[in-house]
Amino acid sequence: MDWLAHFIWQDVIWHDGKFLGIEWSVWKVIGWMGNAVFSSRFLVQWYATEKHRRVVIPVVFWWLSLGGSLLLLVYALRQTDSVFIYAYLFPWIPYTRNLIIHYRHKNAHSECPGCGHLCPPRSNFCPNCGTRLAAAAVVEPAER
Ligand SMILES: [Zn+2]
Repeated sequence: MDWLAHFIWQDVIWHDGKFLGIEWSVWKVIGWMGNAVFSSRFLVQWYATEKHRRVVIPVVFWWLSLGGSLLLLVYALRQTDSVFIYAYLFPWIPYTRNLIIHYRHKNAHSECPGCGHLCPPRSNFCPNCGTRLAAAAVVEPAER
């Protein structure tokens, strides 16, 4: 087992006298942070799917996609690598759009004070438990 610890330390963690064998700089930190953030979205999505026992894409997935891809774009621009730049130049558009749509949808719905169910816009009563919604008394159709 001593050889294994030696292998892990010498050949993986502290390879060639450098952490993970990487020549570190501020740009490498930005690039690896981008990789870490972007990759973590898959774990988040997988966890949410396993938890709900159906395919789920939580909102944090889009935030991690946006943050990770922007960090990787900054790194790609620094590297002036056209292939890498193109790969991360446009994905922020659908990520941002998904976030806008998500928050619009969330804000249009109201949470039932009785059961916490997310009720459709302009509902007078909670479709889940029948509680009268406070917004129904205030918002008149003519105001829209
Ligand atoms: Zn309810």
